[in-house]
Amino acid sequence: MTAVRSYDAVVVGSGPNGFAAAICVAQAGRSVLMMEGRDTVGGGVRSEALTLPGFVHDSCAAIFPLSVASPFLGSLPLEKFGLEWLHAPYPLAHPLDNGQAVLAERSLPATARRLAGDGKAYQGLLQPFLQDWPRFAKDLLGPLPLPPGAPLTFGRFAASALWPARRLAQTLFRQPEARALFAGLAAHAMLDLNQLATSAFGIVIALTVHQVGWPLPRRGAQSLSDALTAYFTHLGGEIITGQWVRRLEDLPPARAILFDLTPRQLLQILGERLPPGYRRALQRYRYGMGVFKIDYALDGPVPWQAPECAQAAALHLGGSMEEIASSERLVSRGRIPPNPFVLVAQHTPFDPSRAPVGKHTLWAYCHVPHASPVDMTAAVEAQIERFAPGFRERVLARHVRRPAEMEAYNPNYVGGDINGGIQDLRQLYTRPALRRNPYATPLPGVYLCSSATPPGGGVHGMCGYHAAQAVLRRELRG
Ligand SMILES: Cc1cc2nc3c(=O)[nH]c(=O)nc-3n(C[C@H](O)[C@H](O)[C@H](O)COP(=O)(O)OP(=O)(O)OC[C@H]3O[C@@H](n4cnc5c(N)ncnc54)[C@H](O)[C@@H]3O)c2cc1C
Repeated sequence: MTAVRSYDAVVVGSGPNGFAAAICVAQAGRSVLMMEGRDTVGGGVRSEALTLPGFVHDSCAAIFPLSVASPFLGSLPLEKFGLEWLHAPYPLAHPLDNGQAVLAERSLPATARRLAGDGKAYQGLLQPFLQDWPRFAKDLLGPLPLPPGAPLTFGRFAASALWPARRLAQTLFRQPEARALFAGLAAHAMLDLNQLATSAFGIVIALTVHQVGWPLPRRGAQSLSDALTAYFTHLGGEIITGQWVRRLEDLPPARAILFDLTPRQLLQILGERLPPGYRRALQRYRYGMGVFKIDYALDGPVPWQAPECAQAAALHLGGSMEEIASSERLVSRGRIPPNPFVLVAQHTPFDPSRAPVGKHTLWAYCHVPHASPVDMTAAVEAQIERFAPGFRERVLARHVRRPAEMEAYNPNYVGGDINGGIQDLRQLYTRPALRRNPYATPLPGVYLCSSATPPGGGVHGMCGYHAAQAVLRRELRG
């Protein structure tokens, strides 16, 4: 009989937060095992051949500013382990019905110049945070900072960030271009833009454009996870794939367990072991709207009406601020919007390795009500056609994932919610429950490290980093 090996830490789930937690503990010289249910690692950072041979599609995340801007992931030597970041000439384009597009350039002044009458207000909103980014990013990407490391900047941020995005845009900007741009950025919140604190998302997502650009990994998202794997195993970490953890007994002995999962799965795995108060808090945890995703194999590049759109890594398709706000409001109320807000990423113009010669891929998703079964293909394609007439004729194949399929693909996407839980003012810093240390559960040695902890969704790894810090401090000292 072979003895089961024990570890300092076991991490369940290999998303970016699982990797960040595992790497952080391994960097401290501790033994770490990562266990992943699927046959490949990466969580929301994977690529797959979803359509035709030779076409590489990013299964979930496609644009990675938060990885580069992250105080932890951004500090790792991933380029030495095979990762190469690529940049499109423009991080983001927001086409409008007049045939023109609002362009967000990496340079803040250059973007401000494009916004003409609203340029000064746009630059004035963002400049103070960019100047103080290294300290401010640490405050932003973690549990509620008490006291903040950059108190003046954080206070200034809170003063604007607490506003509903629609109101802030109406107050600051006079022209439809800047308003539309800000609404598209804020819509990453996946909330009604009339809700308090939705401006926070607009500001933070805009800051990433101007701080680091919107990079994409050469050969697809999977190459980020592959680089994380290579670095983690270089540090001595071990990985097991193809093993879903359903009970605590599925794990080898460890001094600490970090779950890269959301409250619903934690409840299934730990059940009655959790004290009733904490269990009830997890049962009350709220999941938000879902996504409906389409990946395309295309016969040629997208025929964007505004030529600059062909030079952008990502596009926000939703038209004016009013239209985007109304679409997000409908979705937040459980209704299907006739003109959904569509987020698009185009990789192949800047990374031809992802498709056969002369062919292209397109990545698109829209927000839909939680767990909605409605087929949004026609609505998504109508939005693309609106700004790229003739698009449909270029489609060679498409692959669709509705919320239920997103959840089947990754159980963390409950009802299609890609943020591991709704990110409104009530739940952003109190995820998964109101506790002094949100990463620790009441069970000794058991931690949560997924996007269901602060600072929430996105490929920044900071949930994993903070959870690992707590583990190193509390469980693995000495
Ligand atoms: C369509 C889509 C587009 C997105 N676009 C972007 C983007 O462009 N940029 C960006 O920054 N973010 C984006 N995101 C969000 C980002 O992918 C997530 O916020 C991020 O992946 C969360 O990381 P995580 O480590 O918390 O969890 P996940 O990445 O969800 O990883 C969890 C892992 O745990 C595994 N797992 C689950 N249950 C078990 C179990 N019981 N046993 C073993 N393993 C288990 C899963 O298979 C998965 O590998 C997108 C997400 C989606 C779905």
